[in-house]
Amino acid sequence: MKKIPLLSYIFFTVLCSIITQAHAAIKSIDEFTTQMNHFPGYYSFFYDTQNGKVYLKVDKFEQQFLLQQSLPYGIGSNDIGLDRGQLGNTHLVQFERFGDKVMLRAVNTYYRANTSNKAEQQSIKEAFASSILAGFKVVAEDKATALIDYTPYLLSDVHGVSRKLAARKQGNFSLDESRSAVYMNRSKAFVKNTELEAVLTFKGTKPGEFVRQVSVDPYALTVHMHHSLIQLPDDNYTPRKFNPQSGFWSIEHKDYAAPLGDSMYVRYIPRHRLTKKDSSLPISEPVKPIVYYLDPGVPEPVKSALLEGGKWWNDAFTAAGYKNAFIVKVLPSSADPMDIRYNVIQWVHRATRGWSYGSSVIDPRTGEILKGHVTLGSLRVRQDILIAEALAAPYLKGNEVAKNLQAMALDRIRQLSAHEIGHTLGIAHNFAASVGDRASVMDYPHPLLSFNEQGKLDVTRGYATGMGVWDTQVIKYGYSDFTNQDESAELAAILKENKAKGLEFISDSDARAKGGAHPTAHLWDNGTNPSQELLRVLDVRKKALSQFGINNIKTGDSLSQLEEKLVPLYLFHRFQVEAAVKLIAGVDYEYETRGDSPVKGAQVVNKKTQQEAVNAIFATLKPSNLLLPESVLSLIPPKAYGESKSRESIVGRTGLTLDAMALPEVAVQHSLSLLLNAQRLNRLAQQQARSNDFYSLDELLEELYGQVFNASSPNTMTGKITQRVQFLTAKAMADIVASDSASPEVQAQLRYYLVKLSEDFNQNSMLSHTSTGESAFKQYLAEQVNQFLIKGQWPNNFKVLPIPPGSPI
Ligand SMILES: [Zn+2]
Repeated sequence: MKKIPLLSYIFFTVLCSIITQAHAAIKSIDEFTTQMNHFPGYYSFFYDTQNGKVYLKVDKFEQQFLLQQSLPYGIGSNDIGLDRGQLGNTHLVQFERFGDKVMLRAVNTYYRANTSNKAEQQSIKEAFASSILAGFKVVAEDKATALIDYTPYLLSDVHGVSRKLAARKQGNFSLDESRSAVYMNRSKAFVKNTELEAVLTFKGTKPGEFVRQVSVDPYALTVHMHHSLIQLPDDNYTPRKFNPQSGFWSIEHKDYAAPLGDSMYVRYIPRHRLTKKDSSLPISEPVKPIVYYLDPGVPEPVKSALLEGGKWWNDAFTAAGYKNAFIVKVLPSSADPMDIRYNVIQWVHRATRGWSYGSSVIDPRTGEILKGHVTLGSLRVRQDILIAEALAAPYLKGNEVAKNLQAMALDRIRQLSAHEIGHTLGIAHNFAASVGDRASVMDYPHPLLSFNEQGKLDVTRGYATGMGVWDTQVIKYGYSDFTNQDESAELAAILKENKAKGLEFISDSDARAKGGAHPTAHLWDNGTNPSQELLRVLDVRKKALSQFGINNIKTGDSLSQLEEKLVPLYLFHRFQVEAAVKLIAGVDYEYETRGDSPVKGAQVVNKKTQQEAVNAIFATLKPSNLLLPESVLSLIPPKAYGESKSRESIVGRTGLTLDAMALPEVAVQHSLSLLLNAQRLNRLAQQQARSNDFYSLDELLEELYGQVFNASSPNTMTGKITQRVQFLTAKAMADIVASDSASPEVQAQLRYYLVKLSEDFNQNSMLSHTSTGESAFKQYLAEQVNQFLIKGQWPNNFKVLPIPPGSPI
């Protein structure tokens, strides 16, 4: 027998082992997974307990499905914005095979060619980039089925936690694999969806204050990330056309196959699938109702309130011809809230109060909502109680929160539940609803409070209950079953009906802007006449301020806590200021489309209405409305030992003690920043030039100058506030002159008044006044203005105090 030399033997052995490994790489799936747990479902997966790995069986190539990513366990900071249950990206994806690799490609759904011409469709595919989200190695295979190691992708930062932390300046964080793993408790496979979850730890350096505020160890943040692989719904869903007046959001794509002369933008409304069992009946049960599940972790009495508020929607669906189409119940403890099959309402805790929101998983092809996911911030209910306490001074005897105050806060929670669910039904904000007798839960409501004849706070009308007229109409548009009917005609009829009912719809971009012009679209407002309501609110505030004191806190609470109660009371009028100011240089319009009837266009708000608004805003600059009662100033001490200021406290310039001028300053600045908004002033100047019938910039500036700068300022608190108003007004005018957003004509007019002010105050300071303080101030302001006029820049020795946060309430 021929002896094999040692070297050759080693070579032969190595070669054999390479061949064996090559064979190992193409093991059959059964062979490869013998020791693993099998989870059969839409995409079946295997779990390798020994190595903590998840293998996905890819038996569908080039077949589209939805990949939804989410964050089941969050960070808990409103400022960072990584909340428990937050939905991430929804991608239309497909697996593709490239040799020994499998790729997961996200399809570009915005640019399309809606045609049967394959070449035309291909030209779009090639023109706009798709995104390959992940590449996988094939570890085993059967004929057309590949087994891939999904673990690295599952353990990656698909939700963009590191990016978000960096963007919020909260430190440099990256994934630590050694502290990350597949989370099998929430990894399951079902017939139409496969759910996979991981525990991920981010290690970081230089953690920011928000991270420090909420973490155990600010250098290690552990969260969960979830992947839902979802089978596409069947083709029996019909998208519904978007109309800007419908009250719905729009899901848009651009169609490059649209006929020349037609719009390329295709817009659908997002909505759940809902059809009648019998469409010939005026009222019918649905084929399948829309069911929402409430977080079982909500405590009473909030839980019942959330359930009740959610159920209001069923009334709207009833009006749209359904019976029992909308159901709300508590989520069974065994169910996973991130599971795509459940519409959920989650009660989410954060370190500080913040926004609630309603998100949805939407099929990007059609706008069909597959899952509604409501996030309700748990601190909201406490804010309403705080406002009520601040106004009612309720603790005369016991420490119990008065039943009626708590009832009002729960009314708000009902409405909040309905509001956020509304978003997940596809519905947008309608900020023009409150003027129409609180016509929608999709507006932002402000507590409607007054004092009764006995001097007690009346909260009975605090918040509305039930669906508004607008909500009912919106549901009719989005969810009516028009089988065997002319859908376009029926939808047009609903919009016509809205007009006949006097309903308006104006949403975020028009209502939120500081320079907004719409006379009825406001956030957190009440009443049909914003100016009258502002004056009424100022009265309520004055009454509450006069009785503010020891009864605003419970027995045993430190006196210094009165500070945080005082803030929402003192600034109780802030949102109504925003409402009234929009009448000034206001323009009335709707999201009109051309039809049969005459159009409204863009109508300037009439002069009398604008003048009323100016008067109401000027009331917020009057020292009598700004002065804090001596009884309040002499009651609130610096923070008690063991307690500290929060973001809801007052920032001042008097060290530890309460700054009596701080709240007046921030309130005045708030009004001025809205009144002397560059866009508003530019508009007013143009309106003046267009017609003498309109209110004018000349009038506004003349009246403002008269009220603010002709007032005397003796050495009293009223006098000091007068001076502060004068200072802030002069500076606000200078800021507009120096800004690049005011038109040159407007800048010229404001500069004219600054010159006049400098001259007037300079001369006036020579006259004898009751106090040298008054002369000194006039001389000082004249100098400051003068310096600005020379240098074009306000002297750098004054910074306006920050206003404590207001919304959400
Ligand atoms: Zn909202």
